[in-house]
Amino acid sequence: MRVKDAQRAVVLLSGGMDSCVCAALAARDYEAAAVHISYGQRTEGRERRAFFAICDRLGIENRLLVRNEALAAIGGSALTDADIAVPESHPIGDDIPVTYVPFRNAHFLAVAVSWAEVLGAGKVFIGAVEPDSSGYPDCRPAYYEAYNQVVKTGTKEGRIEIATPLIHLRKVEIVRLGLELGAPFDLTWSCYSREDSACGLCDSCVLRRRAFREVGSSDPIPYAALAGRV
Ligand SMILES: [Zn+2]
Repeated sequence: MRVKDAQRAVVLLSGGMDSCVCAALAARDYEAAAVHISYGQRTEGRERRAFFAICDRLGIENRLLVRNEALAAIGGSALTDADIAVPESHPIGDDIPVTYVPFRNAHFLAVAVSWAEVLGAGKVFIGAVEPDSSGYPDCRPAYYEAYNQVVKTGTKEGRIEIATPLIHLRKVEIVRLGLELGAPFDLTWSCYSREDSACGLCDSCVLRRRAFREVGSSDPIPYAALAGRV
């Protein structure tokens, strides 16, 4: 193994807050390459813009845009099916919300690991978060442990490792870490439903806004008018 290869990393960068912090970590510690996946999500155009802007700011030159047609064709999620509305945020319970995209992260990781193998990268970064998130099953630590076994047995040299540096962090800790790293939060896009200004009402917006409030920092992205609902 060439030493240089081990210093390369692929990061899955959706353009949201968590993946931006994850990319900032990857760019600090590795020669990072970033991949964005469009899968028919409502905000894919806006996400892509965020992806390019974040890469520019973090100095990530090596970029890959991938389109996954399977997830939208399959549907079953409010993010990919126009007939299923994106709900306003509700307390996190046992039910997995309709914004869950069935087994999505497996598709994303498969793409990132394939690219890592070609680039000779030793790590794949993904900004999955378990605590105070939406309760998606493909954000659990056990899932990544299992996936790492698949990667180990299913790649040529078996040495690519999936890194989930945010998985145990609360949203408020992610904001603090991002501020420390100088992560470009102003360029991120987290909203599930809108592309002009963030709705402020979906799970993703609510979790994000709450975290910035708890840190005592202002969220630099624009939100639609939320009269009486802050
Ligand atoms: Zn929103």
